[in-house]
Amino acid sequence: MNKKIAILKGDGIGPEIVGEALKVLEKIASKYCHTFEYSYVDIGGCSIDKYGVPITKEGMELCKNADAVLLGAVGGPKWDSCAPEIRPEKALLAVRKELNLFANLRPTKLFPQLVSASPLKKDIIDNGIDLLIVRELTGGIYFGERSTETIDGTVVSKDVMSYSEFEIERIGRVAFETALKRNKKIASVDKANVLDTSRLWRRVMHRLSEEYNDVDYFDVLVDNCAMQLIKAPSQFDVIVTENMFGDILSDEASMLTGSIGMMPSASLSSDSRGMYEPIHGSAPDIAGLDVANPIGTILSVAMMLRYSFDMKNEADVIENAVESVLNKGYRTADIIQDGMKKVTCSEMGTLIANEI
Ligand code: NAD
Repeated sequence: MNKKIAILKGDGIGPEIVGEALKVLEKIASKYCHTFEYSYVDIGGCSIDKYGVPITKEGMELCKNADAVLLGAVGGPKWDSCAPEIRPEKALLAVRKELNLFANLRPTKLFPQLVSASPLKKDIIDNGIDLLIVRELTGGIYFGERSTETIDGTVVSKDVMSYSEFEIERIGRVAFETALKRNKKIASVDKANVLDTSRLWRRVMHRLSEEYNDVDYFDVLVDNCAMQLIKAPSQFDVIVTENMFGDILSDEASMLTGSIGMMPSASLSSDSRGMYEPIHGSAPDIAGLDVANPIGTILSVAMMLRYSFDMKNEADVIENAVESVLNKGYRTADIIQDGMKKVTCSEMGTLIANEI
């Protein structure tokens, strides 16, 4: 198979972790006779430095013409004082919007080899943690109208949260279809005791749950969900929620696994194109030191093969290679434990590629 991939290394540790993911992708290409064609696009701070904007029109076109986008991370203190319209994160929102990436899939899995890295007590995680958050990504308060004005001598700011039935049903279907391929269990998270958008959300989800009657469905209020993720995370399989709730809950969930460096994500459109990236940021504190954990990015490549290219076997091979390297005791600095072998970012990438 021949696939076009836009490579967006970004800032901070972005170039290091994406470099390791490409080692793994090339190994897959040669083992399974695929051709991956790469186009490299500057994004975030490095693009601001070169072109004055966080992504150029030409860069955006390359993303739109690709079968998938692989991203490292953007941002860093150097660009914190940029004007809001040219901040590095603006480019991420623009790519999501231009490619219509409305569904964000964030798996949270506790690898058995890393149980002691979890901040939770052993008896809470004895049943394992393997859940998937399906977050709506192009609606809600992050995309609503906003304003700041002075009324009667005091400054008032507004951010509008709005959802249409269409947007809710579209993300709901992704979640129910995904649940059918997992353990057939969905928790829908909202704040229906307060918000109108949540009451509409709940009505649409209930309608879908009647259609997908093989899937075990339940509603959870967002504040309760935040507690339950700490108290009894193994009760969850698929969690579906709106944009802002998903943003917060998925960061909370990722910490249950010990390191933010292990976790991948996919953002999908309705035609199965997608953007794949680790969930962490550009980690400026460790950039350039070759100590970052590249596993979140490597597992993002596995998600790309599974969801955009329909290469299930190749995705499994990458995931098994990661487990196998962890089983052999290799760890980057963020997940090091007594008795384990400490490796650099590039050594970890090479070990995983060699395992394939
Ligand atoms: P961060 O995720 O970059 O870092 C938080 C902590 O986790 C740091 O101590 C860092 O060293 C560590 N860490 C992150 N990834 C790691 C990895 N792969 N291996 C080992 N350790 C890792 O979050 P932050 O410090 O709040 O943000 C830094 C910059 O990243 C900011 O400019 C922020 O806006 C940006 N950011 C970008 C994205 C993105 O590109 N999608 C997401 C979040 C934050």
